[in-house]
Amino acid sequence: MLEKTKIFHGDIVYSADRNTLAVHENSYIVVKDGFVEGISLVLPEEYLWADTVELGRGVLIPAFSDLHIHASQYAQRGIGMDRLLFDWLDSYTFPQEARYADPEYARAMYDAATLSMMKCGTFHASIFTTIHRAACDYLFERVRSLGMQAYIGKVNMDQNSPDFLCEDTSKSLKETEAFVSSHTGDPRVKPILTPRFSPTCSEPLMKGLGRIAAKYCTGLQTHLVESPAEAEAAKNWAPGYACDSDIYEKCGLLEHGPVIFAHVIFPEERDLDIIRKYNCLTVHCPEATTNVIAGIMKAERLLSEDNIPIALGSDIGGGSSPAVYHQAALAVQLSKQREFYFPEESGHLTFAQAFAMATLTGGSAFDHVGSLAPGYRFDALVLDGLEDPMSPLSPAEKLERFCYCGTDANIVKRYIDGKEIFL
Ligand SMILES: [Zn+2]
Repeated sequence: MLEKTKIFHGDIVYSADRNTLAVHENSYIVVKDGFVEGISLVLPEEYLWADTVELGRGVLIPAFSDLHIHASQYAQRGIGMDRLLFDWLDSYTFPQEARYADPEYARAMYDAATLSMMKCGTFHASIFTTIHRAACDYLFERVRSLGMQAYIGKVNMDQNSPDFLCEDTSKSLKETEAFVSSHTGDPRVKPILTPRFSPTCSEPLMKGLGRIAAKYCTGLQTHLVESPAEAEAAKNWAPGYACDSDIYEKCGLLEHGPVIFAHVIFPEERDLDIIRKYNCLTVHCPEATTNVIAGIMKAERLLSEDNIPIALGSDIGGGSSPAVYHQAALAVQLSKQREFYFPEESGHLTFAQAFAMATLTGGSAFDHVGSLAPGYRFDALVLDGLEDPMSPLSPAEKLERFCYCGTDANIVKRYIDGKEIFL
């Protein structure tokens, strides 16, 4: 995927840190062998010979990372959204996931889901599939062929699940080990252990997954304290576990790779201690929260006071749009709702914080992506068509408008490792 030196000239925006946008107006960015070499107002003389892409009124930004998406639920996005969580799972999600036993269906839907992600500028993702290994194998190869960086997880569930998706414990472990062992060694796409959430996995299954994590150095993605009922269920899950994250710690699932906890809406102090101890990433999924989950993550407080890193997730199909840029806008909106109803608890997110969650923090799970600072891979998007006649916007305003009002049609160019890709 590597290309030689390429220059882009125009407005460049990325996150300098979790709270601040770096804005380079009318600047040159030098990309060498797929990595950002430097940004400057004047093109260094040594690069005068190189091809230059003029961005015009467009703006260059880093590509997005979706840290929580169920690719297997793509076909149910935007339907059944007036149901509450458990009704929605039983009526839509579980019957939908059962269809992935059919390889032809899995191929068609995973092709559609990943194409949609790429169109929305999501080039890095942590993806839930289903219990079906053959379908997971297909998605793994599909994602690799698209040039994405990703974690792919075969879902585990051996209790509190519908009969048609409930696995035998030893078979679940065997299939998981077969999936993980057959996909080691790829630096861009990696397997990740994916117990659906603690109530659906027995203690022997969790401990078995811990052994696989140690043997293959594999990380973990799951849902954590998504509802008060789930947080309470975790305490009664089996004797000797204090809270939801304690289950994963004691079963040996937090030490061998990235740990990605989705939702984290009702954490206890002990959960936050464990999250900090293992440098876990939490994932805010604002649209899914609004659609099917009764609770709003205390995002601003977790970020500012508890020093917890937060990425964003579309959580398709709980979320109805795969566009991570819309999730960034929704994260700001929901944080303002939370601030309105609980002013004593937290303030609201700024747009700069939300954009960093969508790029810099989410990208930290992968290899040198999520920013356009020197040293990062040039996984980038050019946005355009965001201004009104006679009403020019600043680069940061163009980006914000894109997150609130944009569509994939505003993404006019896409690059992975410096190479333009066409969908
Ligand atoms: Zn989910």
